[in-house]
Amino acid sequence: MAEKKPRKPKTFAPSLSGRCLRYTVMDLLGFGRHIAPEALVAMHDGASLHKRFQQSLVDLYDVVGVEVPLKDPVLHVSGRIDAVLKEGDHQVAVEYKTVRDDKFAAVRVAGPFFDHWAQLALYVNIGGYDAGRLVVENRETNERLMWLQWPDVHWKSWLVQRINTAQTYQEKRTLPPREVSLNCRHCDRWQRCFKSEAEREAAIAEHPLWEPHPAAPEIIQEGDPVWRQREDIQ
Ligand code: SF4
Repeated sequence: MAEKKPRKPKTFAPSLSGRCLRYTVMDLLGFGRHIAPEALVAMHDGASLHKRFQQSLVDLYDVVGVEVPLKDPVLHVSGRIDAVLKEGDHQVAVEYKTVRDDKFAAVRVAGPFFDHWAQLALYVNIGGYDAGRLVVENRETNERLMWLQWPDVHWKSWLVQRINTAQTYQEKRTLPPREVSLNCRHCDRWQRCFKSEAEREAAIAEHPLWEPHPAAPEIIQEGDPVWRQREDIQ
């Protein structure tokens, strides 16, 4: 009988870039998620808005590709970029996110969510693109905001360290300590960290701010994040 080949370790998905390390390792080890019905509906709606957004890019912009593969064989990263645009001599990675109305109001005031920015930072800094555009759309009103991101050595170093650390735990098949923060309230694997909602809330009250190690790099926003049409963004 032929010997069974050992299964290849799961690769690091770009969407894990700005997540809690423990959550990331759970993902790499194939732990299940408890996805609430309303989150499933939002995911479904987001998928159809994604297709519509990608089509609008193809219609209006100089598109190199949509669902462009990104693979880094050294870091064992693998994923797909929503779109890559050609802007002059630059190849620009585009990450598109849809959010609820209240979250849209929050990003309009405070800037992009860390995990959205980190995912784009991985495309730009590990994928080697000249720049990145993060587009956030309000699922209810279809308003959009957009930020431009440039390559940044601090982000690259932070991402590489986080990926390497997560993969060290993956190899040992152990979980790192919790990185407790307000994010735990919306985490779809929180039951692996707390015995009850009451225990989770008490931990969040004691430690609401996320403090990853190493410390997270800064999100540098430039200009006004209003979504611009092609003629404005050249
Ligand atoms: S509940 Fe909190 S600590 Fe646990 S995996 Fe989720 S975000 Fe990380």
